[in-house]
Amino acid sequence: MELLFLALLCLHILKTEAVVGHWCYRTQKCEQPQCKDPPQWHQVSDWCKGNRQSPVNIVTRNVVYDKNLKALTFEGYDVKDSAKWTLENNGHTVKVALSASPKVGGGGLKRKYKAVEFHLHWGVPGEPQTVPGSEHSIDGQKYPMELHVVHIREDASDVTEAKKTTDGLAVLAFFIEAGKENKNYATLLSELEKIKYRGKSTQVNALPLSSLLPAEEELGRFYRYEGSLTSPDCYQGVTWTVFEKPVELNVTQLSLFSALHFEGPNSTAMTENFRPVQPLNDREVLWSGSAMALPEAKLLLLLALSCALSSVSH
Ligand SMILES: [Zn+2]
Repeated sequence: MELLFLALLCLHILKTEAVVGHWCYRTQKCEQPQCKDPPQWHQVSDWCKGNRQSPVNIVTRNVVYDKNLKALTFEGYDVKDSAKWTLENNGHTVKVALSASPKVGGGGLKRKYKAVEFHLHWGVPGEPQTVPGSEHSIDGQKYPMELHVVHIREDASDVTEAKKTTDGLAVLAFFIEAGKENKNYATLLSELEKIKYRGKSTQVNALPLSSLLPAEEELGRFYRYEGSLTSPDCYQGVTWTVFEKPVELNVTQLSLFSALHFEGPNSTAMTENFRPVQPLNDREVLWSGSAMALPEAKLLLLLALSCALSSVSH
């Protein structure tokens, strides 16, 4: 009797799966023809066909300079979480849930937001870089990877509650470029081997979030627009901050992400886990402007002074 029940339950699950299908990236279509890839995500959630979707291509010639976009203020970004971090392969990306909640505010954000998790998107790494995997692009150019630090409104207890409001989330997006080795990523990267398959997770020593980002004085230049989550349910109510300054990883470090798989052993390698860019429609992308770093400003001032002095002496 129990067996029969179990069999029926399995059949039901299989049937539901076949009809609805779960969402996936384009690279998974071969292995799972039933799964819903980005052009079909609207069958999973209505939001995905909304008119304020992410990611977008940022056309720098069309961005609107906004003097109110001052530098953001980061609270607790330089503090190490007291608990360990759980690094997880959730079948779409590698994700770290944060227990302590560093906060971000200012920078034109309407309220304070607290960080709840971060994850990454990538393409097909290797030498030379074959498919760049960032989600946003600048003038049509994509970077190898993109890091998303997901924040929810300070007054919401979790993502589900935050999504009940119209401005529930704020995501800080950082491009990742191929460059020097980044030792701050070493611990995280060495653990990827342990979470090769969907549902696997591992504990790692927490890091200050700031150690994974460019130096704070480099974060004054950013783009801002209103968009959505870049995977189903595609919730629309996300304030995006896309920083100009990328994080650097070297080519070997970039290539470690393709050791992951979307499902179990022998399943498709987890590559190209990004959503293609979405129409901007009537939205504006704001730009914080060319706020100069202090040393550069000083140098210019010095140059101007010496010019002025030399013209006086002649
Ligand atoms: Zn993301």
